[in-house]
Amino acid sequence: MGGKGSLTIGRVWGIPVRLHFSFLIVLPYLAWVIAQTTPVLAGMAGIDPGTLVLPRLGLGALLAVALFACVLVHEFSHVFVGRLGGGRFSGVTLMLVGGVSEVVELPRKPMHEAAMAIAGPVASLLLAVVGYLGHLIAGPADLRFGLFYLAYVNLALALFNLLPAFPMDGGRIVRALLSKVTTRVRATRVASVLGQLMAVLFLIGGLLSFNWVLLLIGLLVVGGARAELEMVKSSAALDGLRVEQGMQRFAPTVDAGDGVAMVLERMRREVRTTYFVLSRGDLVGAVTAAELKRHDGAGAAFARISDVMQRDVPRLEPDQELGQAAQMLRASRLTMLPVVQAQDLVGFVSLGTIARAVRERDEAQARGRALREQEAT
Ligand SMILES: [Zn+2]
Repeated sequence: MGGKGSLTIGRVWGIPVRLHFSFLIVLPYLAWVIAQTTPVLAGMAGIDPGTLVLPRLGLGALLAVALFACVLVHEFSHVFVGRLGGGRFSGVTLMLVGGVSEVVELPRKPMHEAAMAIAGPVASLLLAVVGYLGHLIAGPADLRFGLFYLAYVNLALALFNLLPAFPMDGGRIVRALLSKVTTRVRATRVASVLGQLMAVLFLIGGLLSFNWVLLLIGLLVVGGARAELEMVKSSAALDGLRVEQGMQRFAPTVDAGDGVAMVLERMRREVRTTYFVLSRGDLVGAVTAAELKRHDGAGAAFARISDVMQRDVPRLEPDQELGQAAQMLRASRLTMLPVVQAQDLVGFVSLGTIARAVRERDEAQARGRALREQEAT
C-alpha cells in the first residue's frame, strides 16, 4: 500500500513518510470543517468565539496540519513499539482516513503485536491529555482553542481506533490476544467476524441517522476485515515452509558504482528487471527497470547506480518462515527479496519461487499418500 499515488516527504528513523493524494484533497476540506465547527467547539471550551484573532479558515488550516502531525505521532508510536518487538516497517502513509503504518514484518510474539497495536491509541490519549492541560494554562484565545480542539480530536482518534474491528488497532489487539489461545488464522477469523458484526451496526446506525461518517466507517471495516483474513489465510498455505525451501540459490547483482546506462543495457541483454546492489561485497540496495528508465535520458551517461537505487530493501534469512517472507514481499515495492546468511547474499525469494515451494511440498505429500494407499492394499 502507499506506493502508487503518493509522494515521499521525508524520513523518520529511516522510514519514508508518504502523502497519499487523497490526503491533499482532505486537508482543505478538513480546514473548512474545522472553521465551520469553531463556534460550537469554542463554546465547549468556554471560549468566546469573538475573542479569536485569526480568520476561521486560517485557524482551520493550521489545526488541520497540526492534526495530521498528531496522526504521525500515533503511527510512529506503532512503529517504535513494533520495532522493539522485532517488527519491520516499509513506510508510513498519510491518507484520507488518517495514517497507515505499512508493516513488513509483524513482531513474532503475540504480546509484542498487542503492545504495538495499543501504542497508537495510547499516544493519542497522551496527546489529548497534554492538549487539555495546555489549554487550561495557555494565554491567547487562539492557542487555548487550538489545544482544546486537538485534545478533543485526539481523544476521538484514540477511542475510534480502540474499536475491536479490523483495520482499527482494536482489531489487532483482539487478534493478538486470541492468538495466545488458538492459531493465528482462527484468531483472525474470530476478530474478522466480530468486526463484520460491528460494521453491520455502523451501517444500520448510519442509514437510520443519515450519518455518512458512520456509513463510511462501516464500509471501511467491512473491507478491512476481509483483506486481513485473506492475507492471513494465504500465508497459512505456506505454514511449515522455510525461506530455505522457497528460495533460488542465485542472485543477480550489480555494483553500486556501475553506470545506469550500462545496467540498463544489461537488463535488456539478460531480460531481467531487478538487480541487488553490492558495495565492497555488502548488500546495500536494489534497482528495478522502472527506476532506471526514469533516470534514463540526458543525465544517464553520468548517473551511478548508488544515486538511483532503493536503499531500504528488506532482507530474508534462510531459517525464516516462508509465510512471513511472502508478507514482506507483498509489502515491498520489489518483485524479489534478497536472502542473506551471515552477511552474505545467498539467493532470492519471488512469487515464482514461493509457488514452486508450495507445489513441491504438495506433490511430495500426494506421493506420500499414494505410497501409503499402495501399502494398505
Ligand atoms: Zn493506530
